Amino acid sequence: CYLNRIEEVEDKIDAFITLNKDEALKAAEEVDRKIQNGEEVGMLSGIPIAIKDNISTKGLKTTCGSKMLENYIPPYDATVIENIRKEDGIIIGKTNMDEFAMGSSTETSYFKTTKNPYNLNKVPGGSSGGSAAAVAACDVPLALGSETGGSIRQPSSFCGVVGIKPTYGLVSRYGVVSYASSLDQVGPFAKNVEDAALLLNVLAGYDKRDSTSIFREKVDYIKGLTEDIKGMKIGLPKEYFTECVDEKVKEKVLEAVEVLKDLGAEVEEISLPYTEYALACYYIIANGEASSNLSRFDGVNFGYRSAEYSNLEELYKNSRSEGFGEEVKRRIMVGTYVLSSGYYDAYYRKAQEVRTLIKNDFDKTFEKYDIILAPTSPILPFNIGEKIDDPLAMYMSDILTVSVNLAGACALSVPCGYVDGLPVGLQIIGNEFEEEKILRLAYNYE
Ligand code: GLN
Repeated sequence: CYLNRIEEVEDKIDAFITLNKDEALKAAEEVDRKIQNGEEVGMLSGIPIAIKDNISTKGLKTTCGSKMLENYIPPYDATVIENIRKEDGIIIGKTNMDEFAMGSSTETSYFKTTKNPYNLNKVPGGSSGGSAAAVAACDVPLALGSETGGSIRQPSSFCGVVGIKPTYGLVSRYGVVSYASSLDQVGPFAKNVEDAALLLNVLAGYDKRDSTSIFREKVDYIKGLTEDIKGMKIGLPKEYFTECVDEKVKEKVLEAVEVLKDLGAEVEEISLPYTEYALACYYIIANGEASSNLSRFDGVNFGYRSAEYSNLEELYKNSRSEGFGEEVKRRIMVGTYVLSSGYYDAYYRKAQEVRTLIKNDFDKTFEKYDIILAPTSPILPFNIGEKIDDPLAMYMSDILTVSVNLAGACALSVPCGYVDGLPVGLQIIGNEFEEEKILRLAYNYE
């Protein structure tokens, strides 16, 4: 019946790049057979899950929203996909995204622009806009996205769903096409906090195939949800409530703060002084790492190959010029510049130093507070086409999310009301590996 729903709304929403109809039906029949035979079934048995198209799925196209990988079919599953299959989840399709996860609106996709289910003239956010829209439009109850600088939380906020950016190292990156390796994390989208916690249970865990994966005792993220939040200490960073934030968004978030106070939380204003450098720092580090990661798409090892070349250098040049979109090229150029000898110290190295200062802000805060609370996005979902020709305006929409990625902490976005019929997201930020805490607060709030 989810496939019917997708057929019904897909021509309006454009959430998917590839549907996995036949395989999904086969997998669902297999789960059915297990149930009929009285065999044990997994935590996600029979649940259709939409997958962002930068996560490798064996035998199923993984395009990263790019012409470069238009016909790429991975020969293996990412670890997160293996985990989902082990728990009998159904991979129903691959969702639209900004090309190579670079963007905040899903408009940089080579294939299509996903529409916001709340208003078809608005963007769904990005880069995981297809996954967020698919959950919001009830195409699927669960989806996977990836974050480098806000790509799960911001579209969650824009589409009125729950999205989690896990602590760096909690979820395996094996088989996830790299954007900026020191920032990338996969995380869940769901309609509510409990469903998101269920999917996180399946995703989280040590993986020896990812050298940045961290070994921790397994946690059941559902178990602690119902505990109360009396006495929880919450900090509201003044830098996240400046004039850059839409007044109506602020108002909704402050209404949520009142609800949390009534539930027994203690709320105080705090300061994260290095916030003002976060966006510049993020775009130097992310672009630098991206320029290196994307060098593998050369028309030889991976991806699109130009039909026109007369020597090897031309093959590289023409394949990359024709295969990558404008935003990706812009970032490769900026990234190559900040890593180049002579400029490395002034940009990339400096940004790494600033990153440490941003992390110190968080570390100091979490010595005294359990949670940092803020809006997820400074603005409401914007019109399709409104920012696509103004990269800096587009980058500004990440201003409240990128610090968390730089610090490696965990955070989620949960809906906290509507303005003019458009959803607003409340951002709940926790210290490294404190997913239980942010989920408990979100569950109590919801
Ligand atoms: N919008 C940010 C960017 O363009 C974040 C993207 C992401 O998290 N993948 O880099």
